[in-house]
Amino acid sequence: MNLAAERRAIVEHAPRLAALTPGRTGNCSVRSGDAFAVTPTGVPYDSFDAEDVPLVGVDGERRGGGMKPSSEVPMHAAIYRREDVGAIVHTHSPWTTSLAIAGEDLPPIHYMIVAVGKRVPIAEYARYGTAELAENVVEAMRAAEASAAILRSHGLVVTGPDLPTAIENTVHVESLARMYLTARGAGFEPTELTDEELEAVLEAFEDYGQ
Ligand code: 13P
Ligand code: ZN
Repeated sequence: MNLAAERRAIVEHAPRLAALTPGRTGNCSVRSGDAFAVTPTGVPYDSFDAEDVPLVGVDGERRGGGMKPSSEVPMHAAIYRREDVGAIVHTHSPWTTSLAIAGEDLPPIHYMIVAVGKRVPIAEYARYGTAELAENVVEAMRAAEASAAILRSHGLVVTGPDLPTAIENTVHVESLARMYLTARGAGFEPTELTDEELEAVLEAFEDYGQ
């Protein structure tokens, strides 16, 4: 199993993470069946090519690729074992991570939240690189019926059907966190959309776009 298309997707799209997370933090992966291609650990997002991209089984075992995989392999593997998703993005995006360090979730202050659910929950803390972190993320996402979770005192995880969608939704969450904290910092108490209002957006989204 070579996952050539998934490795190319990592090389093509991972550089977008550089604008979303400081330095070499964060990682992303693309799944095909019982394996996934994932960013290499501790290197800049534009410094590897397709043959370097590590391949890992959903059992967490390394299966190839020239470079050492992300330290978050246990989290990516455990999410793929538990959820039917095609890609995972993890960042330390500053505005969302400000919520993470405050221990707060992201409420529905703007209709674009429905890209990932009706709110972005906050997952319990577990050390980076652990399967326990994935358990906490899956638990938080399931309870909130969301495809993203804030990692307490750490950052953000967004899952999606494919990598471009997961990255785009990471951008949405980060921009919503920025709006929310900016409004709060200006002294406002942001109003929240009601469940009925969010349902109406979800319905309208069914035929949004081309
Ligand atoms: P890697 O460089 O090993 O992917 O780790 C970055 C990170 O954000 C760990 O949580
Ligand atoms: Zn991290």
